[in-house]
Amino acid sequence: MNAADDKTIVREYFNSTGFDRWQRIYGDGQVNKVQLDIRTGHQRTVDTVLEWLVADGNLPGLSVCDAGCGVGSLSIPLAEAGAIVYASDISEKMVGEAYERANAVPGRANNITFTAQDLEALSGKYHTVICLDVLIHYPQDQAAAMISHLSSITDSRLIISFAPKTLALTVLKKIGEFFPGPSKATRAYQHREADIIKILQSNGFTIQRQGMTSTSFYYSRILEAVR
Ligand code: SAH
Repeated sequence: MNAADDKTIVREYFNSTGFDRWQRIYGDGQVNKVQLDIRTGHQRTVDTVLEWLVADGNLPGLSVCDAGCGVGSLSIPLAEAGAIVYASDISEKMVGEAYERANAVPGRANNITFTAQDLEALSGKYHTVICLDVLIHYPQDQAAAMISHLSSITDSRLIISFAPKTLALTVLKKIGEFFPGPSKATRAYQHREADIIKILQSNGFTIQRQGMTSTSFYYSRILEAVR
């Protein structure tokens, strides 16, 4: 399957069944146990990134690009903390939901610009570019081009998270593939941490902070790369 086909599938998924599933997981309503576990894990990833950015003390006025913003789980609190946020997602439904959530509270969305856009189409320069839990939709051989593109719009810092490729996870994924549920309509790609670090270094970055979130069903390695 080529990259364009992969992307069409991802976009269609997040505009249909994927939207229904993920906007519920990334919400606060009733969900099943597995979904609750994923919600908790994902929130930890968001909180880790927020803690890093707040700790640096320069968030007010900072330009931040949230590439693949989903329903705004990170964009909204970032904007509330004073960042100037450019939030985009390949799925109109996901970014539409982000817009709704941001506007549900008056004043909350003042510093956020929302667009429905493939991250490969992003241009301009941002102090910080953040891309959380999006690489899972990119096969290994497309990770380098994706990260290089994000690097080209980054002035100082790129924060990226991915599902790390480890033996335990590979086994878990295989088990998952024996019981494909209706919601598993897209492939999930894991990435070797060493590969991602190499790609970041080749784009002129060094790793400044790292985090790892793991719950029973959610795994995410977070890297903050700076230059
Ligand atoms: N970053 C958000 C959402 C993670 S879910 C968060 O952590 O809360 C993954 C999101 O990536 C989905 O909303 C999906 O539509 C988006 N996505 C996948 N491929 C993309 C691409 N090529 N460009 C932009 N967004 C993409």
